[in-house]
Amino acid sequence: MSSSIPIPNDFNKMLYEDISVYDPEVNELIEKETWRQFSGLELIASENLTSLAVMQANGSILTNKYSEGLPGARYYGGNEHIDVLENLTRERALKAFNLDPKVWGVNVQPYSGSTANFAAFTALIQPQDRIMGLGLPDGGHLTHGYYTAKKKITASSIYFQSFPYRVDPATGLIDYEQLATNANLFKPRLVVCGGSAYPRDWEYERLRKIADGQGAYLMSDMAHISGLVAAAEQNSPFEYCDVVTTTTHKTLRGPRAGLIFFRKDKDDLESRVNAAVFPACQGGPHNNTIAGICVALKQAAEPAFKDYAKQVRANAAAMANVLFKHGYRLQTDGTANHLILWDLRPIGLTGSKIEKICDAVHITLNKNAVAGDTSALVPGGVRIGSSALTSRSMFEKDVEQVAEFLHRVVQISLQAQKEAGSKKLKDFVDAFEGTGESAKLVKELKEDVKNFCIKFPLPSVVDSSTIKQFD
Ligand code: PLP
Repeated sequence: MSSSIPIPNDFNKMLYEDISVYDPEVNELIEKETWRQFSGLELIASENLTSLAVMQANGSILTNKYSEGLPGARYYGGNEHIDVLENLTRERALKAFNLDPKVWGVNVQPYSGSTANFAAFTALIQPQDRIMGLGLPDGGHLTHGYYTAKKKITASSIYFQSFPYRVDPATGLIDYEQLATNANLFKPRLVVCGGSAYPRDWEYERLRKIADGQGAYLMSDMAHISGLVAAAEQNSPFEYCDVVTTTTHKTLRGPRAGLIFFRKDKDDLESRVNAAVFPACQGGPHNNTIAGICVALKQAAEPAFKDYAKQVRANAAAMANVLFKHGYRLQTDGTANHLILWDLRPIGLTGSKIEKICDAVHITLNKNAVAGDTSALVPGGVRIGSSALTSRSMFEKDVEQVAEFLHRVVQISLQAQKEAGSKKLKDFVDAFEGTGESAKLVKELKEDVKNFCIKFPLPSVVDSSTIKQFD
């Protein structure tokens, strides 16, 4: 045992100071954000609340280490423990998705979902090759080839030729027939499935046939649903896809990062994906994050996680039922996963207006395009997710109350719209921030939301009485 070494009293003293002492400014922001998360409702479908153990790994001393390369083949020394960690993470990733290590491999180094997707494209196709992904306004993600009439928006449309597929505006469901027809004309090298705002499951067998018809690769970006896939609450993309990417911080409930799974038995994908991640697209892996992923994957393989994922779906369905009961329209008439796309157009509201009132009452969600929207600038709906609420240990009866809060948001919005005297967003905000009836209702709802939320524990905070209160 070594005896305690005195803390130096020189230029290195700051290396030992607690953040609350050394940087109260940043510390207060962390405390405020903790209070915001504790006292508000988190309905953003791409977010979740990770565990204490994941945060401990993520905030660990592993952040100090460089480890370019792969386990056993590094460009830096001192990686004996990092090698074990990365191998363990790879093992756990395959196990969490029930994959045979002889058939599937995984790269656990991507910094995020976007970089995982770009690295996967880099591995699979050449610059300016053709890709087809679900269009952004139809529920796809930016990184699946998004562009507008005026601009190529993401690297996926700057470096590749992209043509989106769409949902049927009448049903909100993916129009696989139109996709097949357009694929025949466009002849993609890569078909991408997966989305950010699609409330239904994916027909991977059908997508495989479409890709095969063109000799194209099929890649799934299961970022949103990977926790549900791990728990067998959604179809598995692994049976039909060549490559599967995911973020690790959505339904999977880990730290912010990405993973790329690849078939080992096809076209040398293993070395192509690994080389695409490093050195093509990234430098040194974030080993602290990999440790967080590793812990999250252990959790995702637990029976308790299966219960969690089941409850995520049950909670989304329970919220949908309450919204239906109030006569609202939901895209695809409901949900099969963790998210709901709420079409506000029939009640004469926009996603932006609901988002504004929600923000004012501590409910966090986001405006979202719904099928058939004519203006990308004025989305006609909002997206609601149940993952974070379920991590706060809410069950059906609790989230039904959340849906009732959302119903109150609509009523306040209609009142504010009346008081505004115009359809302009600014007049609307002025109305509910003013002194009229809508402002009074906002204050009441904000208080009710807070009193409701603080009854539920916040993941990672063992003693909620230590949470500092603001506002
Ligand atoms: N892929 C999908 C389907 C997503 O929804 C997202 C983010 O929301 C990403 C990729 C990007 O992930 P990140 O923000 O980690 O880059």
